Amino acid sequence: RVHDNPALDAARRSAARVYPVFVLDPRYLRPDPAAPSPGSARAGVARVRFLLESLRDLDARLRRLGSRLLVLRARDDVSDAVCAALKDWNIGKLCFESDTEPYALARDKRVTDFAAASGIEVFSPVSHTLFDPAEIIEKNGGRPPLTYQSFVATAGEPPKPVMEKYSELPPIGDTGGYELLPVPKLEELGYGDLSQEYIPPFRGGETEALKRMRESLQDKEWVAKFEKPKGDPSAFLKPATTVLSPYLKFGCLSARYFYHCIQDVYRSTKTHTKPPVSLAGQLLWRDFFYTVSFGTPNFHQMEGNKICKQIPWRENGELFVAWRDGRTGYPWIDAIMIQLRKWGWMHHLARHSVACFLTRGDLYIHWEQGRDVFERLLIDSDWAINNGNWLWLSCSSFFYQSIIEFTPQSHSERSTTPTETTSGISSQC
Ligand SMILES: Cc1cc2nc3c(=O)[nH]c(=O)nc-3n(C[C@H](O)[C@H](O)[C@H](O)COP(=O)(O)OP(=O)(O)OC[C@H]3O[C@@H](n4cnc5c(N)ncnc54)[C@H](O)[C@@H]3O)c2cc1C
Repeated sequence: RVHDNPALDAARRSAARVYPVFVLDPRYLRPDPAAPSPGSARAGVARVRFLLESLRDLDARLRRLGSRLLVLRARDDVSDAVCAALKDWNIGKLCFESDTEPYALARDKRVTDFAAASGIEVFSPVSHTLFDPAEIIEKNGGRPPLTYQSFVATAGEPPKPVMEKYSELPPIGDTGGYELLPVPKLEELGYGDLSQEYIPPFRGGETEALKRMRESLQDKEWVAKFEKPKGDPSAFLKPATTVLSPYLKFGCLSARYFYHCIQDVYRSTKTHTKPPVSLAGQLLWRDFFYTVSFGTPNFHQMEGNKICKQIPWRENGELFVAWRDGRTGYPWIDAIMIQLRKWGWMHHLARHSVACFLTRGDLYIHWEQGRDVFERLLIDSDWAINNGNWLWLSCSSFFYQSIIEFTPQSHSERSTTPTETTSGISSQC
């Protein structure tokens, strides 16, 4: 993105030539004909499409400022492509947003090791989240806060976004030896004739993200009264929440900018809801999961994960596939899973319903299996948030004493708040 991007800001200030680079990663983009639905092994086609739209928009925004996006295609390891470009273009300073996902940490370490060995200066600010997860863990005595309340108490106020408006950016430097390709089309990545059914109603990109955010925040009363558990998960034409998650995931929208715009709305209203249910409270949930995931070894699995209850889940391939493919026979569950496959986005409470159904509520199947399906198909697929919510919903971590049951039939009829009981794990089937 161009707004609130401290890495871009630093690059712009340090050099007369700036190379804005995005590397296409085959790990996520190489089509896999054997996958259960169109896409690669790790990303459904709706998310691949969203990414390409976001890159095209970023390129257009950079061009308006006298620059452009340089799209590199990695053959295998993204870090190799970055290191080659650093060397070939004789780069003096590398600026990139830090990323706490284990895959990204390992990738970025390979690049920063290369930069250190080559005398290249590195600037890698924390700007994907409101806070720096490492700082919060340090403030909390070296451990991540494990409750939302303690997280909020430790975190305080997030830094202000960098909101300087640029009239131009430095031009790109010499790219000798590199063929400058435009952002590829889906077909150019090897995706054949795709049915229209995999086109979600949300277009990728910073332009769309800012428009969507402004439209949501225009309704000040809606923002002031926002209470997450009260939204209607079956509202499709006008979703009950902002649908900004895919834009936050891909960095098209800055979480800090969004947070501060919400605060501006709060200042102009007499009263407003508070965390955890408020709109600003949702962004704090995001940071909560980022912080816990960063400070918890093996956060993404049951084994070796100290905060995860060890549960003897059942193996049942047939039931799992029925759930994944929307063939359980429960219309509410099946509709949500079909929405996942086609759009890659569902309301939070709809996600609750199907996650609860797969795990402790009904099928008693391992949360990691459900997590994998979400991870591949969601357009907002996010390592920290997805794992955190699956840990939560399967009663494996954060929340074990009281059970919220989502009856697969009556929940859809009411379509609002879940039934709460404290009865322990029960089956609805
Ligand atoms: C099983 C399960 C898996 C999930 N996987 C993901 C995922 O991979 N990626 C993802 O972004 N969200 C995930 N969520 C959280 C949540 O459902 C989505 O963030 C939300 O529905 C996105 O819609 P929105 O942008 O309209 O949210 P809004 O209600 O408008 O909230 C604004 C922003 O706050 C953040 N947010 C909202 N709810 C949560 C939450 N519970 N935890 C953390 N951050 C939150 C998101 O960034 C969101 O865009 C998951 C939830 C469940 C139950």
